[in-house]
Amino acid sequence: MEVTVVGAGVIGLCTALVLEERGHHVRIVAAELGERTTSAVAGAVGFPYRAGPPEKVAAWAARTRTWLEELARTAPEAGVDVLTGFEITPSPRDGEPVYPWWAAGIDVERAPAPVTGAPMAWRFTAPRAQPSLFLPYLRSLVRAPIETRVVGDLAHEAGDAVVNCTGLGARELANDDLLYPLFGQIAIVDSGGVDTAVTITDDRDPDAIFYMIPRRGELVLGGCSRPYPPGAPAELDRELTARILGQARALGLDVGAVRIERAGLRPYRLEVRLERDPKHPRVIHNYGHGGAGFTLCRGCAESVEALL
Ligand SMILES: Cc1cc2nc3c(=O)[nH]c(=O)nc-3n(C[C@H](O)[C@H](O)[C@H](O)COP(=O)(O)OP(=O)(O)OC[C@H]3O[C@@H](n4cnc5c(N)ncnc54)[C@H](O)[C@@H]3O)c2cc1C
Repeated sequence: MEVTVVGAGVIGLCTALVLEERGHHVRIVAAELGERTTSAVAGAVGFPYRAGPPEKVAAWAARTRTWLEELARTAPEAGVDVLTGFEITPSPRDGEPVYPWWAAGIDVERAPAPVTGAPMAWRFTAPRAQPSLFLPYLRSLVRAPIETRVVGDLAHEAGDAVVNCTGLGARELANDDLLYPLFGQIAIVDSGGVDTAVTITDDRDPDAIFYMIPRRGELVLGGCSRPYPPGAPAELDRELTARILGQARALGLDVGAVRIERAGLRPYRLEVRLERDPKHPRVIHNYGHGGAGFTLCRGCAESVEALL
Protein backbone atom coordinates (compact mmCIF):
# COMPACT_ATOMS: atom_id res chain seq x y z
CA MET A 1 0.00 0.00 0.00
CA GLU A 2 1.00 3.64 -0.52
CA VAL A 3 0.81 5.34 2.89
CA THR A 4 1.34 8.95 3.99
CA VAL A 5 2.39 9.31 7.62
CA VAL A 6 1.77 12.81 8.96
CA GLY A 7 4.12 13.69 11.84
CA ALA A 8 7.77 12.89 12.56
CA GLY A 9 7.93 12.61 16.34
CA VAL A 10 8.51 9.23 17.95
CA ILE A 11 5.02 8.05 16.94
CA GLY A 12 5.27 9.08 13.27
CA LEU A 13 8.80 7.71 12.82
CA CYS A 14 8.02 4.43 14.54
CA THR A 15 4.80 4.04 12.54
CA ALA A 16 6.67 4.68 9.29
CA LEU A 17 9.31 2.14 10.30
CA VAL A 18 6.82 -0.63 11.07
CA LEU A 19 4.84 0.02 7.86
CA GLU A 20 8.02 -0.20 5.80
CA GLU A 21 9.08 -3.39 7.59
CA ARG A 22 5.72 -4.89 6.61
CA GLY A 23 6.18 -3.99 2.93
CA HIS A 24 4.25 -0.73 2.59
CA HIS A 25 5.53 2.23 0.60
CA VAL A 26 5.66 5.24 2.91
CA ARG A 27 6.14 9.00 2.69
CA ILE A 28 6.26 11.30 5.70
CA VAL A 29 4.97 14.87 5.92
CA ALA A 30 5.76 16.86 9.07
CA ALA A 31 5.65 20.49 10.14
CA GLU A 32 8.65 20.12 12.47
CA LEU A 33 11.46 17.61 12.86
CA GLY A 34 13.95 16.44 15.48
CA GLU A 35 14.66 18.85 18.33
CA ARG A 36 11.53 20.89 17.56
CA THR A 37 9.15 18.05 18.39
CA THR A 38 7.73 17.18 21.82
CA SER A 39 9.45 13.82 21.47
CA ALA A 40 12.85 15.52 21.80
CA VAL A 41 11.91 16.78 25.30
CA ALA A 42 10.88 13.40 26.76
CA GLY A 43 12.71 11.54 29.55
CA ALA A 44 12.22 9.00 27.87
CA VAL A 45 11.71 6.01 30.05
CA GLY A 46 9.39 3.08 29.35
CA PHE A 47 6.68 3.81 31.88
CA PRO A 48 3.00 4.27 30.94
CA TYR A 49 2.43 7.68 32.50
CA ARG A 50 -0.79 9.59 31.71
CA ALA A 51 -2.07 7.34 28.92
CA GLY A 52 -5.12 5.13 28.51
CA PRO A 53 -7.12 2.95 28.25
CA PRO A 54 -5.35 0.66 30.73
CA GLU A 55 -5.77 -2.74 29.00
CA LYS A 56 -4.66 -1.48 25.58
CA VAL A 57 -1.85 0.59 27.10
CA ALA A 58 -0.54 -2.47 28.96
CA ALA A 59 -0.50 -4.49 25.71
CA TRP A 60 1.11 -1.71 23.62
CA ALA A 61 3.67 -1.08 26.37
CA ALA A 62 4.55 -4.78 26.62
CA ARG A 63 5.15 -5.03 22.88
CA THR A 64 7.22 -1.82 22.86
CA ARG A 65 9.23 -2.95 25.88
CA THR A 66 10.25 -6.20 24.14
CA TRP A 67 11.42 -4.24 21.10
CA LEU A 68 13.31 -1.63 23.14
CA GLU A 69 15.00 -4.33 25.20
CA GLU A 70 16.11 -6.00 21.99
CA LEU A 71 17.53 -2.70 20.71
CA ALA A 72 19.40 -2.27 24.00
CA ARG A 73 21.05 -5.66 23.37
CA THR A 74 21.70 -5.40 19.65
CA ALA A 75 21.96 -1.72 18.59
CA PRO A 76 23.94 0.49 21.01
CA GLU A 77 23.68 3.41 18.58
CA ALA A 78 19.88 3.51 19.20
CA GLY A 79 20.54 5.05 22.63
CA VAL A 80 18.39 2.53 24.51
CA ASP A 81 19.51 1.12 27.87
CA VAL A 82 17.69 -1.03 30.39
CA LEU A 83 17.55 0.47 33.88
CA THR A 84 16.21 -0.69 37.21
CA GLY A 85 13.09 1.34 37.97
CA PHE A 86 11.64 2.24 41.37
CA GLU A 87 8.19 3.78 41.73
CA ILE A 88 7.46 5.24 45.17
CA THR A 89 3.70 5.40 45.68
CA PRO A 90 1.63 6.69 48.63
CA SER A 91 1.78 4.32 51.61
CA PRO A 92 -1.35 2.18 51.94
CA ARG A 93 -3.53 3.23 54.88
CA ASP A 94 -4.48 -0.31 55.65
CA GLY A 95 -3.53 -3.66 54.20
CA GLU A 96 -1.28 -4.44 51.28
CA PRO A 97 -0.38 -1.85 48.62
CA VAL A 98 -2.41 -2.14 45.41
CA TYR A 99 -0.46 -3.85 42.62
CA PRO A 100 0.25 -1.22 39.92
CA TRP A 101 -2.26 -1.20 37.04
CA TRP A 102 0.54 -0.89 34.46
CA ALA A 103 2.39 -4.00 35.61
CA ALA A 104 0.54 -6.63 33.50
CA GLY A 105 3.18 -8.97 32.11
CA ILE A 106 6.08 -7.25 33.90
CA ASP A 107 8.00 -8.57 36.89
CA VAL A 108 7.23 -6.01 39.60
CA GLU A 109 8.01 -6.50 43.28
CA ARG A 110 8.13 -4.56 46.53
CA ALA A 111 11.66 -3.46 47.41
CA PRO A 112 13.36 -0.89 49.65
CA ALA A 113 13.43 2.50 47.91
CA PRO A 114 17.02 3.64 47.19
CA VAL A 115 16.34 7.12 48.62
CA THR A 116 16.04 8.89 51.95
CA GLY A 117 12.63 8.98 53.65
CA ALA A 118 10.68 6.43 51.58
CA PRO A 119 10.77 2.90 52.94
CA MET A 120 9.34 0.86 50.07
CA ALA A 121 8.82 1.13 46.33
CA TRP A 122 7.77 -0.98 43.34
CA ARG A 123 10.87 -2.34 41.59
CA PHE A 124 10.92 -3.35 37.92
CA THR A 125 13.14 -3.04 34.86
CA ALA A 126 12.57 -0.14 32.48
CA PRO A 127 14.05 0.48 29.05
CA ARG A 128 15.10 4.12 28.55
CA ALA A 129 15.58 5.75 25.15
CA GLN A 130 17.79 8.79 24.78
CA PRO A 131 15.83 10.98 22.33
CA SER A 132 18.94 12.71 20.90
CA LEU A 133 20.13 9.27 19.75
CA PHE A 134 16.85 7.36 19.38
CA LEU A 135 15.02 9.78 17.06
CA PRO A 136 17.97 10.03 14.60
CA TYR A 137 18.31 6.24 14.84
CA LEU A 138 14.67 5.78 13.78
CA ARG A 139 15.18 8.28 10.97
CA SER A 140 18.21 6.35 9.77
CA LEU A 141 16.15 3.15 9.52
CA VAL A 142 13.22 4.73 7.70
CA ARG A 143 13.63 4.95 3.92
CA ALA A 144 10.61 7.25 3.41
CA PRO A 145 11.35 10.78 2.22
CA ILE A 146 10.33 13.48 4.72
CA GLU A 147 8.58 16.55 3.38
CA THR A 148 8.51 19.53 5.77
CA ARG A 149 5.09 21.15 5.50
CA VAL A 150 2.04 21.94 7.61
CA VAL A 151 -0.91 19.69 6.72
CA GLY A 152 -4.29 21.42 6.81
CA ASP A 153 -6.57 18.58 5.73
CA LEU A 154 -5.73 14.89 6.26
CA ALA A 155 -8.31 13.77 3.70
CA HIS A 156 -6.46 15.65 0.95
CA GLU A 157 -3.15 13.85 1.49
CA ALA A 158 -2.09 11.27 -1.12
CA GLY A 159 -2.03 7.49 -0.70
CA ASP A 160 -4.21 4.48 -0.06
CA ALA A 161 -4.03 5.43 3.62
CA VAL A 162 -3.03 8.51 5.66
CA VAL A 163 -1.85 7.96 9.26
CA ASN A 164 -2.30 10.90 11.59
CA CYS A 165 0.65 10.95 14.02
CA THR A 166 0.55 14.67 14.76
CA GLY A 167 0.53 14.56 18.58
CA LEU A 168 -0.95 17.76 19.94
CA GLY A 169 -1.39 19.02 16.35
CA ALA A 170 -4.36 16.65 16.07
CA ARG A 171 -6.39 18.94 18.31
CA GLU A 172 -6.85 21.23 15.32
CA LEU A 173 -6.24 18.80 12.48
CA ALA A 174 -8.78 16.23 13.72
CA ASN A 175 -10.89 18.85 15.48
CA ASP A 176 -10.52 16.93 18.75
CA ASP A 177 -11.33 18.81 21.97
CA LEU A 178 -10.69 15.64 24.00
CA LEU A 179 -6.99 16.11 23.30
CA TYR A 180 -5.26 18.75 25.39
CA PRO A 181 -1.77 19.83 26.46
CA LEU A 182 -0.27 18.64 29.73
CA PHE A 183 2.72 20.78 30.63
CA GLY A 184 5.97 19.02 31.57
CA GLN A 185 9.41 20.31 32.41
CA ILE A 186 12.78 18.66 32.84
CA ALA A 187 16.20 19.80 34.01
CA ILE A 188 19.18 18.05 32.46
CA VAL A 189 21.95 17.97 35.05
CA ASP A 190 25.41 16.44 35.49
CA SER A 191 25.21 12.87 36.71
CA GLY A 192 26.90 13.79 40.02
CA GLY A 193 27.18 10.86 42.39
CA VAL A 194 23.90 9.04 41.70
CA ASP A 195 23.56 5.41 40.63
CA THR A 196 23.12 5.77 36.86
CA ALA A 197 21.64 2.28 36.52
CA VAL A 198 18.54 3.30 38.48
CA THR A 199 15.52 5.42 37.54
CA ILE A 200 13.25 6.66 40.33
CA THR A 201 9.71 8.05 40.23
CA ASP A 202 8.13 9.54 43.35
CA ASP A 203 4.35 9.77 42.92
CA ARG A 204 3.50 10.36 46.57
CA ASP A 205 2.39 13.96 45.99
CA PRO A 206 0.36 14.23 42.76
CA ASP A 207 0.94 18.01 42.77
CA ALA A 208 4.72 17.61 42.99
CA ILE A 209 5.73 14.48 41.11
CA PHE A 210 9.46 13.81 40.91
CA TYR A 211 11.52 11.60 38.67
CA MET A 212 15.17 10.95 37.93
CA ILE A 213 16.13 9.31 34.65
CA PRO A 214 19.83 8.64 34.00
CA ARG A 215 21.04 8.91 30.42
CA ARG A 216 24.46 8.37 28.91
CA GLY A 217 26.57 11.12 30.50
CA GLU A 218 23.69 13.13 31.95
CA LEU A 219 20.71 12.95 34.25
CA VAL A 220 17.12 14.04 33.61
CA LEU A 221 15.17 15.42 36.55
CA GLY A 222 11.44 16.16 36.48
CA GLY A 223 8.68 16.70 36.76
CA CYS A 224 5.34 18.24 36.45
CA SER A 225 2.04 17.47 34.79
CA ARG A 226 -0.52 20.22 34.60
CA PRO A 227 -3.15 21.27 32.04
CA TYR A 228 -1.96 24.12 29.84
CA PRO A 229 -3.85 26.61 27.64
CA PRO A 230 -4.31 25.01 24.19
CA GLY A 231 -2.37 26.83 21.48
CA ALA A 232 0.10 28.51 23.87
CA PRO A 233 3.81 27.61 23.52
CA ALA A 234 5.40 25.82 26.50
CA GLU A 235 7.23 28.40 28.67
CA LEU A 236 9.89 27.43 31.21
CA ASP A 237 8.93 27.77 34.87
CA ARG A 238 12.16 28.55 36.78
CA GLU A 239 10.55 28.02 40.19
CA LEU A 240 9.67 24.52 39.11
CA THR A 241 13.32 23.62 38.53
CA ALA A 242 14.17 24.87 42.03
CA ARG A 243 11.41 22.66 43.47
CA ILE A 244 12.64 19.62 41.53
CA LEU A 245 16.27 20.15 42.64
CA GLY A 246 15.08 20.56 46.25
CA GLN A 247 13.22 17.25 46.02
CA ALA A 248 16.30 15.50 44.66
CA ARG A 249 18.33 16.76 47.63
CA ALA A 250 15.60 15.81 50.12
CA LEU A 251 15.64 12.26 48.73
CA GLY A 252 19.41 12.18 49.30
CA LEU A 253 20.26 12.10 45.58
CA ASP A 254 23.67 13.59 44.85
CA VAL A 255 22.79 15.25 41.52
CA GLY A 256 25.18 17.55 39.63
CA ALA A 257 24.86 21.08 38.19
CA VAL A 258 22.03 22.09 35.85
CA ARG A 259 23.03 22.12 32.17
CA ILE A 260 19.73 23.02 30.54
CA GLU A 261 16.00 23.17 31.32
CA ARG A 262 13.34 22.17 28.79
CA ALA A 263 9.58 22.45 28.76
CA GLY A 264 7.13 20.49 26.61
CA LEU A 265 3.46 19.71 26.17
CA ARG A 266 2.30 16.11 26.37
CA PRO A 267 -0.51 15.30 23.89
CA TYR A 268 -2.96 14.00 26.49
CA ARG A 269 -6.28 12.27 25.86
CA LEU A 270 -8.13 10.02 28.27
CA GLU A 271 -7.65 7.31 25.64
CA VAL A 272 -5.07 7.15 22.85
CA ARG A 273 -6.94 7.60 19.59
CA LEU A 274 -6.01 4.68 17.35
CA GLU A 275 -8.79 4.02 14.86
CA ARG A 276 -10.02 4.68 11.36
CA ASP A 277 -11.70 8.03 10.97
CA PRO A 278 -15.45 7.40 10.78
CA LYS A 279 -15.96 10.08 8.10
CA HIS A 280 -12.74 9.48 6.11
CA PRO A 281 -11.90 5.76 6.32
CA ARG A 282 -8.66 6.29 4.40
CA VAL A 283 -7.42 8.21 7.48
CA ILE A 284 -6.12 6.27 10.51
CA HIS A 285 -5.48 8.19 13.72
CA ASN A 286 -2.57 7.42 16.03
CA TYR A 287 -2.26 10.25 18.55
CA GLY A 288 -2.89 11.22 22.17
CA HIS A 289 -0.09 9.20 23.82
CA GLY A 290 0.18 11.60 26.77
CA GLY A 291 3.29 10.96 28.85
CA ALA A 292 3.98 7.63 27.19
CA GLY A 293 4.81 8.09 23.51
CA PHE A 294 8.13 6.25 23.83
CA THR A 295 6.53 3.63 26.05
CA LEU A 296 3.83 2.78 23.48
CA CYS A 297 5.32 3.66 20.07
CA ARG A 298 6.02 0.19 18.68
CA GLY A 299 2.83 -1.45 19.97
CA CYS A 300 0.71 1.36 18.53
CA ALA A 301 2.54 1.28 15.19
CA GLU A 302 1.80 -2.45 14.89
CA SER A 303 -1.87 -1.82 15.69
CA VAL A 304 -1.98 0.78 12.89
CA GLU A 305 -0.49 -1.74 10.48
CA ALA A 306 -3.12 -4.29 11.52
CA LEU A 307 -5.84 -1.79 10.55
CA LEU A 308 -4.49 -1.39 6.99
C1 LIG B 1 8.71 16.70 29.99
C2 LIG B 1 8.23 15.46 29.28
C3 LIG B 1 8.70 14.22 29.68
C4 LIG B 1 8.26 13.05 29.05
N1 LIG B 1 8.76 11.86 29.46
C5 LIG B 1 8.37 10.71 28.84
C6 LIG B 1 8.89 9.45 29.23
O1 LIG B 1 9.71 9.36 30.15
N2 LIG B 1 8.45 8.34 28.56
C7 LIG B 1 7.54 8.41 27.54
O2 LIG B 1 7.18 7.36 26.98
N3 LIG B 1 7.03 9.60 27.15
C8 LIG B 1 7.41 10.74 27.78
N4 LIG B 1 6.87 11.95 27.41
C9 LIG B 1 5.77 11.97 26.42
C10 LIG B 1 6.26 11.92 24.98
O3 LIG B 1 7.17 12.95 24.78
C11 LIG B 1 5.07 12.06 24.04
O4 LIG B 1 4.08 11.11 24.33
C12 LIG B 1 5.53 11.85 22.60
O5 LIG B 1 6.61 12.69 22.31
C13 LIG B 1 4.41 12.08 21.61
O6 LIG B 1 4.96 11.83 20.36
P1 LIG B 1 4.23 12.27 19.03
O7 LIG B 1 5.08 11.77 17.91
O8 LIG B 1 2.80 11.90 19.10
O9 LIG B 1 4.24 13.88 19.08
P2 LIG B 1 5.36 14.95 18.69
O10 LIG B 1 6.71 14.56 19.14
O11 LIG B 1 4.83 16.26 19.15
O12 LIG B 1 5.37 14.92 17.11
C14 LIG B 1 4.27 15.39 16.36
C15 LIG B 1 4.69 15.55 14.92
O13 LIG B 1 3.55 15.96 14.17
C16 LIG B 1 3.87 17.13 13.44
N5 LIG B 1 2.65 17.90 13.20
C17 LIG B 1 1.78 18.39 14.12
N6 LIG B 1 0.78 19.04 13.50
C18 LIG B 1 1.03 18.96 12.16
C19 LIG B 1 0.39 19.42 10.99
N7 LIG B 1 -0.78 20.12 11.04
N8 LIG B 1 0.96 19.18 9.78
C20 LIG B 1 2.11 18.47 9.68
N9 LIG B 1 2.77 18.00 10.77
C21 LIG B 1 2.23 18.23 11.98
C22 LIG B 1 4.91 17.82 14.30
O14 LIG B 1 5.60 18.81 13.56
C23 LIG B 1 5.75 16.61 14.71
O15 LIG B 1 6.61 16.26 13.65
C24 LIG B 1 7.31 13.13 28.00
C25 LIG B 1 6.86 14.39 27.57
C26 LIG B 1 7.30 15.53 28.20
C27 LIG B 1 6.80 16.86 27.72
